[in-house]
Amino acid sequence: MNIGLVAHDSKKKLMQNFCIAYRGVLSRNDLFATGTTGRLVEEATNLTVHKYLSGHLGGTQQLGAQIEHNQIDLVIFLRDPLQAKSHEPDVNSIVRLCDAHNIPLATNLATAELLIMSLDRGDLEWREMYK
Ligand code: PGA
Repeated sequence: MNIGLVAHDSKKKLMQNFCIAYRGVLSRNDLFATGTTGRLVEEATNLTVHKYLSGHLGGTQQLGAQIEHNQIDLVIFLRDPLQAKSHEPDVNSIVRLCDAHNIPLATNLATAELLIMSLDRGDLEWREMYK
């Protein structure tokens, strides 16, 4: 499965720790991330991550385009709720696209863990039928 990863600056450390904790599951899937998030995940886990441009340079839109083309099966977008104003357009566009294309989306750690565990159990196999 193709997993999209984005973390706002205040959540990047959390994303790194999440990816270290679930490295085993992640290593059996393909990872796609905005530039800085992807680099930090690679550094922390030694996994290969397909990196888009940095989020503010268009990386979020690149992820959005892949969601539109049905090429992303699950998105983990660890957003900073306190910086909502400046980041709102990016978050909203990803949420809208995931809703439009019925893609599982986590915006916080609790949901991210649930999604990764269900991915590991095979609960997202239905995504294969969509492709
Ligand atoms: P980044 O993008 O991973 O390149 O920092 C995410 C963001 O928009 O904060």
